[in-house]
Amino acid sequence: MTLSRNESLLQRSRAAVWHPCTQMKHHESQPLVPIVRGEGVWLFDADGKRYLDAVSSWWVNLFGHGHPHIKAALHAQLDSLDHVMLAGLTHEPVIELSERLAQLTGLGHAFYASDGASATEIALKMSAHLWRNQGQPEKNGFVSLAQGYHGETVGALAVTDIPLFRSAYAPLVRAAAVVPSPDARLAELGMDAEQQAESAAQALEAWLQEHHAHTAALIVEPMVQCAAGMAMYHPHYLRRARALCTQYGVHLIADEIATGFGRTGERFACEAAGIRADFICLSKGLTGGTLPLSAVLTTDEVYAAFYDDDTARGFLHSHSYTGNPLACRAALATLDLLDDAQLARNRDTARCLSLVARPLDEHPGLQNARQMGMIWAWDAVTDDPLFSRRFHRAALEQGLLLRPIGRTLYFMPPYVIDDGAMAHLVEGSLQALHGALT
Ligand SMILES: *Cc1c(COP(=O)(O)O)cnc(C)c1O
Repeated sequence: MTLSRNESLLQRSRAAVWHPCTQMKHHESQPLVPIVRGEGVWLFDADGKRYLDAVSSWWVNLFGHGHPHIKAALHAQLDSLDHVMLAGLTHEPVIELSERLAQLTGLGHAFYASDGASATEIALKMSAHLWRNQGQPEKNGFVSLAQGYHGETVGALAVTDIPLFRSAYAPLVRAAAVVPSPDARLAELGMDAEQQAESAAQALEAWLQEHHAHTAALIVEPMVQCAAGMAMYHPHYLRRARALCTQYGVHLIADEIATGFGRTGERFACEAAGIRADFICLSKGLTGGTLPLSAVLTTDEVYAAFYDDDTARGFLHSHSYTGNPLACRAALATLDLLDDAQLARNRDTARCLSLVARPLDEHPGLQNARQMGMIWAWDAVTDDPLFSRRFHRAALEQGLLLRPIGRTLYFMPPYVIDDGAMAHLVEGSLQALHGALT
């Protein structure tokens, strides 16, 4: 018996690859999709079927697959320098990227790693180490928001409040304190999003009043808690959190790993509240979805607290690929594309897709329709624990890559989605809903 190329890849992958975020046994009934090519918003499998990448390949892809400007930058960099260690050495791509990120965020001293969870670890370590350097080693606790997500390494799990990801490892984790989420969906009857934000801010205030002396930092996902199911909230919360952190001498860490680079409408989500955090974590869209890279930027004051003759007062954290030149070049090319004109085009695209998606807003099987920047979400009216997997599968049949989070269906498409792809996205979603909700 001869297998198609698709089937052969599936079999080999199941035998050799342990896939992320997956109970592997589910692939007995739900096949993997072997992707051989990407072009713009489309992914192609080995049999030539195409899928609209409506989740930007886990929120990383901003400008579609194989963007010529990013590809050209990578080719050129590969011809001069592939990689070099960043301790004791430096290179132009990392210098230029650090300068540009500083200019865009108002924070500097970029420290690099390769993934989001590592950026979280770096920010947490830097914050606690700063207090230690300043003679307050007891300020080493963290506070995070209910249903927050900051990555899944053991350190990052300390501030990630998603039981499915954390419970099995609870004995390994020094869990942070959790304060209520400003998620607008949690507003009680008669309360609006801003009042919900204020109520969550009051809970934070009460917590800080009591515990600030042992707290190094508050970590938040500004404006949208994406992994919680696109939980959007009012910027009032960020303004209050900023003021409270300043008042109580606690760092504010903005995890913009998912929200940065235009996803929520502004270049960075903190801009919606007009605040500056003490640390900002970046990854995901940073390289336009081409190479793994993350960065943490911070204030001059934080940097100065490590600057000393004593080696042990320095920040000695390192990863082998810190500041990889290829990844930095991809990031620079991505930033070239993400200019003000692109942010304005995104606003037009968002208006357009919101109109096209109206039938979903009005669908009796969906509630809590919400949108911010280039993110759309709805909650399915179902208690079927298999909804997400059933919808995912039905969507694949429609030529759509969509993975609901629990019962939350969301779109996070690349910014280059056009009218035809939008229609395909909404029509296919309606079909998939029909299949998944019955
Ligand atoms: C994805 C994500 C992370 C973790 O990034 P990885 O690269 O997957 O480790 C951290 N924080 C937020 C807000 C994220 O969305």
